[in-house]
Parts: sequence; C-alpha cells; structure tokens
Amino acid sequence: AKDEGRGTFRFFEPGMDSRLTERRQLETDLRTAIAEGQFELHYQPLLDMKKGAINCFEALVRWRHPARGLVPPADFIGLAEENGLIVPIGEWVMRQACKDAADWPDDVSVAVNVSPAQLKRGDLIAMTMNALSAAGLAPHRLELEITEAVLISDESDVRSTLDSLTTLGVRIAMDDFGTGYSSLSYLRTFPFNKIKIDRSFIAELVGTSDALSIVQATIQLSQKLGMTITAEGVESEEQLAILSAEGCTTIQGYHISRPVPLAEVGSLLDFYNGA
Ligand code: C2E
Ligand code: CA
Ligand code: CA
Ligand code: CA
Repeated sequence: AKDEGRGTFRFFEPGMDSRLTERRQLETDLRTAIAEGQFELHYQPLLDMKKGAINCFEALVRWRHPARGLVPPADFIGLAEENGLIVPIGEWVMRQACKDAADWPDDVSVAVNVSPAQLKRGDLIAMTMNALSAAGLAPHRLELEITEAVLISDESDVRSTLDSLTTLGVRIAMDDFGTGYSSLSYLRTFPFNKIKIDRSFIAELVGTSDALSIVQATIQLSQKLGMTITAEGVESEEQLAILSAEGCTTIQGYHISRPVPLAEVGSLLDFYNGA
C-alpha cells in the first residue's frame, strides 16, 4: 500500500484493488465461458390472451459457471457490453435460439434480446440471416427485442439496420417500454411491431391509478399504431384480470411461467397449446 495515503484513502485502496481484480477475473472467466460453451438459454413463454395459447418464448441467457453455479444475466451482461464480449455471446444466443425454435410449432416464435453494441456493428443483418438459415427457421418466427437506449445514438444507421431486418420478415419489439426518455418519438420513427410494457408499470397496476392510466394509454397507442402489445412481469391473477379487461393481447410473467430450461418447453406447450 502507498504510504502517503492517510485516513480514508488507505481504507479505500484495498477495496478498489479487489474490485478491479474481481472484474479482471470475471472477464477472464467470461472468455473461458465463450470458448468452452458455458452459456445456456432459458425460455419464458408469452401467452396470447384470446387464444389462451403460447405464441412466443423469450430466450434469456444464463451462465453455467463451474464454481459459481447458474449466474443470471444481470451479473455479466453489463460487463460484456463494456468490453465487447456481448458480440460473441449475442451471436451464440441468436444461433442457439433459432436452432431451438426450429423444433417448435410453426405458430410459436422466439424472441432474442439484442444489445446496443450488437446493433451498432455493421454485421447484425448478416449474422441474423446466417443464424436463421443454419437453423432453417422462417424469419417471421424471430423477434428481436431492443431497448430505446440503442436508438439514441447513430439514429440513421440503426434505423436502416432495423428496416433491413423488417424487410427480411424479422419482427422488432421495443423492450422495457416507458422506462426511457423518448419512447414515443421512437415508436414513430423506427419499425416496431410490438411494444413490451415494462414490468415496473405492471407491478404498480393494482391499487395505483397512475400506473393503470399509463398502461391503458399504452394499450390504446399500440392499437392505433397497429402494433401488438405484451405486458411484462405479470405475477398475479389481479394484474392479469386488469390487463385482460383493458384489452392487452399478450402477457408474460411468473404468473404464467418463470423462464424454464429448453427441456421444459415441450410440457408448457402441451399444457397451454394442447397436444
Ligand atoms: P428483460 O429483457 O427485460 O427480460 C425480462 C426479465 O424479467 C428476465 O430476467 C425475466 O426472468 C424477468 N421476469 C420475467 N417475468 C417476471 C415476473 O413476473 N416478475 C419479475 N420480477 N421478473 C420477471 P433475467 O432472465 O434475469 O434477464 C434480465 C435481463 O438481462 C433481461 O431483461 C435482458 O435485458 C438481459 N438479457 C437476458 N438475456 C439476454 C441476452 O441473451 N442478450 C442480452 N443482450 N441481454 C439479455
Ligand atoms: Ca427482453
Ligand atoms: Ca423487458
Ligand atoms: Ca429489462
């Protein structure tokens, strides 16, 4: 330790060192994870309220760490976005999700989260086309979920990428709607097929009229713009009843199912979509 450091500085130093060490270790482990294929996808169903059937599964990545066990995306996606490792991770997610979905019924699609770093690279279209053709999956069965964070910079590049993907038949969803700054203007200028209302609004739906007003307005907006709408984070029967009464077409959340390993997708389809 440095001897000029007195007082609090000395106390902080070891903490900063260990945070840096931990970060470097995590980065090394992430590279190993990519090389050795330690990621897996869990799938959470989206339920069509009218049909009472699953119309999509969202792919959610997990890291099967040899020592730490199953690591959630919140613990590594942020770092992977900063150091660029999200690109190879995201490519693996896309290829695996398309491959898995090719075995599902034709009216069930797969949703893949695409991070800003992936969208800003020039090769997302080629990568997506490769994943689709390697899997033999029809483009309309793939939905890309993007948050508005990516739309703020490089507007025209991102728009032309999304336009090209739309032309291919791939569907685009705005994720976490309502949490950003300019969601409304982006809905107008980018080719979205779907709005996913952020789960923070759904969490406050019962009892608070503000959240209900926002959800009502968002549902009406989606109808007027010809987009489909999904409510995220539906955890209770009360929330489901309100959303149903307001005309929300698709719901997702623990009330229907938590994200499950691929092996359990079949029994969810049996239960909700019939044999
Ligand atoms: P997200 O895209 O908003 O995904 C929804 C998250 O909410 C998932 O967390 C899901 O497990 C959780 N969730 C679903 N239903 C409920 C509910 O009823 N209640 C509550 N409290 N939570 C619910 P998860 O799997 O931990 O993923 C967290 C975030 O990590 C995702 O948020 C997404 O932003 C990111 N992520 C996950 N997989 C990928 C990926 O393959 N690529 C990228 N770029 N990001 C990913
Ligand atoms: Ca998502
Ligand atoms: Ca979301
Ligand atoms: Ca989110």
